[in-house]
Amino acid sequence: MNETEPHLQVQSYLRFRDLLEAAPDAIFEVEQDGTIILLNAAAEAIFGYSREELLGQLVEELIPQNVRGTHQQHRAQYVQHPSVRPMGVGLELLAKRKDGSTFPVEISLSPIRSAQGNRVIAVVRDITARKNSEAEINALQAQFTKSLSEANRQLEIRNREVERANRLKSEFLASMSHELRTPLHTIIGFSDLLAEELKGPLNDAQKRFVEHIRTDSRHLLELISDTLDLSKIEAGRLSLHPEEFNASEALAGWIEKLRPLANNKNQNLIEAYRSDLRVFADPIRLKEILYNLISNAIKFTANGGTITVEADAVEKGTQFRVTDNGIGIPESEHAAIFDKFYQLGSTTKGVREGTGLGLAITKSLVEMHGGQILVRSTPGVGSVFEFVLPLRGAAPKRPVP
Ligand code: ADP
Repeated sequence: MNETEPHLQVQSYLRFRDLLEAAPDAIFEVEQDGTIILLNAAAEAIFGYSREELLGQLVEELIPQNVRGTHQQHRAQYVQHPSVRPMGVGLELLAKRKDGSTFPVEISLSPIRSAQGNRVIAVVRDITARKNSEAEINALQAQFTKSLSEANRQLEIRNREVERANRLKSEFLASMSHELRTPLHTIIGFSDLLAEELKGPLNDAQKRFVEHIRTDSRHLLELISDTLDLSKIEAGRLSLHPEEFNASEALAGWIEKLRPLANNKNQNLIEAYRSDLRVFADPIRLKEILYNLISNAIKFTANGGTITVEADAVEKGTQFRVTDNGIGIPESEHAAIFDKFYQLGSTTKGVREGTGLGLAITKSLVEMHGGQILVRSTPGVGSVFEFVLPLRGAAPKRPVP
């Protein structure tokens, strides 16, 4: 027999004991009937018993009274099907100290075989600290959710107030614009009469003054009309009366009205569409859209330039395109030009004309028809504005105020 063998056995026992005693979790070795036959220092500390008090006792001693019965059943089942596994998965497990107080635990079980029969090693971890932090996190989360839903509620109230204020603003603008137009028509009418000199000749200075009154009052009228249109669109009070009609005839008539503006600048205004083109739209609004685009093209193109108005039947409906070889628009401004009151640089005359509302109105009107407007433009080369109006049956959209 090897002389060193008993010595080695003692050594490995001591190492096993050190390991057991140093473990931070409570460790128990339990017989099949639940009798505790081994425990470590952590078990004493966690449960508040001395080792002697627990050895030979049933593990049920360490379990709150109300769950003891079920525990005994579970233990019996475990003896039938022993395996390494956590205990009570999905359950909140509680253990009981000597003083009767309870605390949350996590337990893992491992069956062991020994010469004395089958036993179970139970490792019990006190998870009070973890449960406390979980509870704190849950409380914080609940608090956070509460403040978030309160913030949401406030935001909803604010949104409703803003919507209401916006509607009131639009209504106010609509009625104001209407009231302002009446006296303005009088100013325009009488300054036109003065300019005609039917009631006597004007001297040069007077003619200049009257011309200023006529130009500025017309500009003011344009501004008021655009504001009225836009406020009606925004208040959802502008309704379309779409019908199917011959787009070619209508286009020819509208372009003829604008031709003098192009002639004034010696521009070439080209019409490119076939004679039987049909469109489904509100004629008054389509005229407004094309007037805006064509007059912009004339305005932002130098003398002698070319403006082309094209129209064609496409798969989705009727396409309109206004192309010019004017001053163009930098790519960075392509979205902004459709904003209200957005004007960029100056016109080709170096004078600020227009209201900055034309494209905002145009875009809304195209969208109300269920279409979409696109711009392609390069500074110094020219611009293309293009939109398609869907055929009859495609539901027109309301603009988003
Ligand atoms: P405006 O009353 O100034 O014409 P719009 O809303 O119609 O207002 O246009 C906004 C701005 O977009 C214009 O001031 C101009 O800077 C730019 N713009 C519109 N059309 C053209 C075009 N065809 N060529 C160059 N710039 C254009």
